[in-house]
Amino acid sequence: MAAPRVIYEPKPGSPIEVDREFYDRLSRETASRAPVERFTVPPRTGRAWPVRAGEIFRIVAVEGPQVADLNVWNLANPRERFWAARTKQLHRAHVTTYDRLWSCLPYLRPMLTITGDTIQYGRDADGAGCHDLLGTRCDPYVHKMLNGEEFDLCCHSNLVRAIAPYRLTELDVHDVLNVFQVTGLTVDDRYFVKASPAKQGDFLEFFAEIDVLCAISTCPHGDLSVQMWGDDAGDPLTTCRPLGVEIRRPDPALLRGWRSPEVSDYRGDHGLRRG
Ligand SMILES: [Zn+2]
Repeated sequence: MAAPRVIYEPKPGSPIEVDREFYDRLSRETASRAPVERFTVPPRTGRAWPVRAGEIFRIVAVEGPQVADLNVWNLANPRERFWAARTKQLHRAHVTTYDRLWSCLPYLRPMLTITGDTIQYGRDADGAGCHDLLGTRCDPYVHKMLNGEEFDLCCHSNLVRAIAPYRLTELDVHDVLNVFQVTGLTVDDRYFVKASPAKQGDFLEFFAEIDVLCAISTCPHGDLSVQMWGDDAGDPLTTCRPLGVEIRRPDPALLRGWRSPEVSDYRGDHGLRRG
């Protein structure tokens, strides 16, 4: 049997291997950051907010474990949005510090770079990791199919309501990064979840490489400690908590040498161009 082979092994200077010194300095120098905005997202709701290129934001477990489903768009062009599947291939299925969130085709550039992760879960004995790209958002269609109920507070719906003020719709919601969510695959290759390990004050921190619109849902399944489907399913309402979002502007001196990335310069036109 052939040995496993990592498919996107970065070459020196590759955009999937970041300048760690630059991002370390950014993440260390917190005292000089200027506050931009901070707010709380109540349980079982959603909220969208813009972040300018060069700013930093955190998603904070302000009261303890709670999963957040994150979507990201280019603020000026919502067709350019986070591409979860490619990010999983370029980095890993559970992202952490120095990993980046990439945009979809035909753009393909880093939208966000992770500059801080207080969870540092690594891989556990079951092969699980935290901050999940294996799965996606919960949605009312699957709820109806499996439980027969009409439920309007799924992450998909929370994101739909969150982005409505930005004139985006359900069709703009896409596959998410499940922040603070521990997942893996069983030995027979089935998706599993575990209770979120986040403690009060834990955060995941991002640097905005371009102007973005972000949105999170505070998942109605809370910290995922209660079984959602099947005979031993319970009501996870008591495990639902708010999340905090904090946006700050770092000292411009720290950004010296950094340039907001351009979209892909592939101009091959897929072989369609004639002559
Ligand atoms: Zn959810």
